[in-house]
Amino acid sequence: MGPGVSIECHEAQKGLHIFEDHFIAEIINPETGEVLPHGETGELVFTSITKEAFPIIRYRTRDITSLNPEPCICGRTHVRMKKVSGRTDDMLIIRGVNVFPSQIESVLMKSRDIQPHYQLVVDRIDNLDTLTVMVEVGQEFFSDEIKTLQNMEHKLSNDIKEYLGVSAKIKLVEPKTIQRSEGKAIRVIDKRKMS
Ligand SMILES: [Zn+2]
Repeated sequence: MGPGVSIECHEAQKGLHIFEDHFIAEIINPETGEVLPHGETGELVFTSITKEAFPIIRYRTRDITSLNPEPCICGRTHVRMKKVSGRTDDMLIIRGVNVFPSQIESVLMKSRDIQPHYQLVVDRIDNLDTLTVMVEVGQEFFSDEIKTLQNMEHKLSNDIKEYLGVSAKIKLVEPKTIQRSEGKAIRVIDKRKMS
């Protein structure tokens, strides 16, 4: 990409202005290739309009972001892209819905009681995709009534359904129980790929 395709203005710092005099940016559904309207999240695609020897035409970056065409308070009118929130390689398709681990993470991290260790377990049972989210919570949760745990699981499940449109079963677990690799929790176990 050479000297870059976008830069954040220091006045607003609300997204990166794309150099639209050199590139056309589009957001597509990474599965179908369909172009998505502004504001929707998908894969960023670039086309160069000034490069002569090596033009790029609808180059798929594999980066997940969205575009905002509204003029910025800094005065620039070039479309802005959000900071990249993930890679298409991380995308899971669960019952036809595109799900990124980073989206689940952002829902989970709204809760103060949750530790930043979680794992998504995807499976296919009776031809239906299932998503289980294992989340570590503080030890104190396990000395409380079971109802506290159940309420929390219920709330997180609702939040995920509302935000992502996919049903998930939440399983709160004790600290340090999720399998780790080099100190980090293994984020995704997709059992559909194992059979
Ligand atoms: Zn700006």
